[in-house]
Amino acid sequence: MIEHGFEIIDFHSHFPVPTDFSGRQSPGPENEKSEHLTKARSEESKKILSDYAQKLRAEWRLAHGFHAPETEEMSDEELAEKWSKEVDRYGIDKVVFVTGGGNERLANIVSRYPDKFIGFAHHNPHEKGADNLLRKSVNEMGLRGYKIIAPALDTPIDHPSAYPTWEAAADLEIPVLIHFGVLGGGGGVSQHVNMSPLSLHDVARDFASVQFVIPHLGCGYVRELLHLMWSCPNVHVDTSGSNQWIRWMPEEITVKSLLRKYLETVGHERIIFGSDSSWFPRGFSVRYFEDQVRDLRELNASNDQMEAIFNGNARKLLKL
Ligand SMILES: [Zn+2]
Repeated sequence: MIEHGFEIIDFHSHFPVPTDFSGRQSPGPENEKSEHLTKARSEESKKILSDYAQKLRAEWRLAHGFHAPETEEMSDEELAEKWSKEVDRYGIDKVVFVTGGGNERLANIVSRYPDKFIGFAHHNPHEKGADNLLRKSVNEMGLRGYKIIAPALDTPIDHPSAYPTWEAAADLEIPVLIHFGVLGGGGGVSQHVNMSPLSLHDVARDFASVQFVIPHLGCGYVRELLHLMWSCPNVHVDTSGSNQWIRWMPEEITVKSLLRKYLETVGHERIIFGSDSSWFPRGFSVRYFEDQVRDLRELNASNDQMEAIFNGNARKLLKL
């Protein structure tokens, strides 16, 4: 455990089990086009894209010194114990699992280590009954937030069908973490109706008491996220992930220059640390944490600002 002078809440990690609602691409427009695509051509394209994704992901692991994820099957109990040890090892106060195999399964997992783990609900906000499922997940199952992957939905995020769900989030006073921007590792999704954080504009203004968190420093959509944050005081940014999208920006920017930008524009009270950790043997991505501590210290962030970014802001949103 290293002494940093502040407690750590990791606001954005994933419990490493397959989720029942993750990075699926929208079926609507794809179905229309797929009528005009032969099966052979479709198979061929899938193979080319999958080879490309594997190549980029292997390069990414090499750049960060990460081993490939363990393939050995482990029970939820064993994985929870591993994660609990990881929390102890790095002196983390709490880790938030924003996904983990569906609401019920994740609720069971986090209930094993209630002092260390927090879980979020994760289901389609447009589905009939999504509002009641959210209420049940929080009130009865003990989940404490809501996670959505916007470019995995098949409906625009601001479609009225999700308004009952936003209403539930407002009643429950829980934070809502929504992924916008490029999705998945290299070779992932880069075009979708819900790609830009600005697609949340109307919802965030209609439900101004709901605290929304947009991850990965904007994930390719910095200008859009800054505009959204300028419009809406209830939008926050998290720092999670390797943020490799930065390499694919036309300007020379870095995690550090982005942290400076967000500090200067929205201030430290709307920046939240997350790691996007999940699988073993990597466990807690301490590398991202240490790099961000150094970046922020070098930007002369005060102790109070460090405290806010690495735990205080999360504490407020989670009502801890
Ligand atoms: Zn994530």
